[in-house]
Amino acid sequence: MDHYKNPQNKGLIDNDNYEKVHLYNPSCGDDITVQVVVENNIVKDIRQDGTGCSICCSSASVASQALKGLDVEVALNKIDAFYNMLMDKTFDYELLKGDALAFSGVKDFPARIRCATLGWKAIEEAILKQKEK
Ligand code: ZN
Repeated sequence: MDHYKNPQNKGLIDNDNYEKVHLYNPSCGDDITVQVVVENNIVKDIRQDGTGCSICCSSASVASQALKGLDVEVALNKIDAFYNMLMDKTFDYELLKGDALAFSGVKDFPARIRCATLGWKAIEEAILKQKEK
């Protein structure tokens, strides 16, 4: 769990251009805040910060890295693929190639699925909010 020890894109910044979304998972105590900026339909930057279990924190780190720099549509497809993987549905393997696949085992632990998806959900919400602007 490299991302737990060395989280990517960690720490929030003070910039009004970023869409901020805070999500909390009461069943585990995970608390994640993300900031996303979309420019010209590209996910220009993602910041993430929070506290929680190792699954939650490392997943938020992986999400921030996996989604940064992508077209909005590709990023949203990738988020969907991640949810489908955890719900044991068919998903686009090629799209998720990389660290995100490391979370496929979480599907066997339904109580932890919310931990693994929290960061992705927060980023998804932030992207959709930015898209509306
Ligand atoms: Zn958790």
